[in-house]
Amino acid sequence: MTGRIGEKLVIASHNAGKIREIGALMAPYGIEVVSVKELGFDEPEETEDTFAGNARIKAHAAAKAAGLPALSDDSGIMVDALDGAPGVYTADWAETPEGRDFPMAMKKVWDLLEENGAPEPRTAHFCCTLCVAWPDGSDLLFEGRASGRLVWPMRGEQGFGFDPIFLPDGETETFGEMDQAKKHSMSHRADAFAKMKAGLLD
Ligand code: IMP
Repeated sequence: MTGRIGEKLVIASHNAGKIREIGALMAPYGIEVVSVKELGFDEPEETEDTFAGNARIKAHAAAKAAGLPALSDDSGIMVDALDGAPGVYTADWAETPEGRDFPMAMKKVWDLLEENGAPEPRTAHFCCTLCVAWPDGSDLLFEGRASGRLVWPMRGEQGFGFDPIFLPDGETETFGEMDQAKKHSMSHRADAFAKMKAGLLD
């Protein structure tokens, strides 16, 4: 069945921000989406050190558990002056005993840039790897990116994660400030989706 999604797709994520964005991006294709969260499946441990490796772990676990094609998204932000950190560990940098704290993680990134005396512009890019996996063990990978720079203080209440400090190239509003339809047209996730659309949906 590789190469076809059918009518129902499992979203291999518990992240409300990602589920919302993927749902919006899939809506035009008339494909019903259901998340592993709604199905009551746990998320597997992300033990790889690449976006592709972790995306494959999540999509295969969900496809096998649900007996349906599954789509995962592994993403993060890579800051040039920090040698690409936090990268695949973006979500980990926000972990606290009480749950994820992204304002704290953004401050950690900015404080490191200040300590290092990193020159402006503090360039960074978001990466997104999408993996579609089928219950028979096959899969396809699609990679996207969005380039920009980090700003401080945080700006905007929209989006999720690191959006409030990411100013995409050529824009005056951060991903946290801009209309979300606009973010969905230019984000790393949109880039990866365009490749998935060309390779699988059209
Ligand atoms: P993971 O892919 O679930 O391991 O985590 C990716 C992390 O990267 C998220 O928790 C966010 O902090 C960050 N991230 C990924 N995509 C976006 C985005 O579109 N906006 C803001 N932050 C993002």
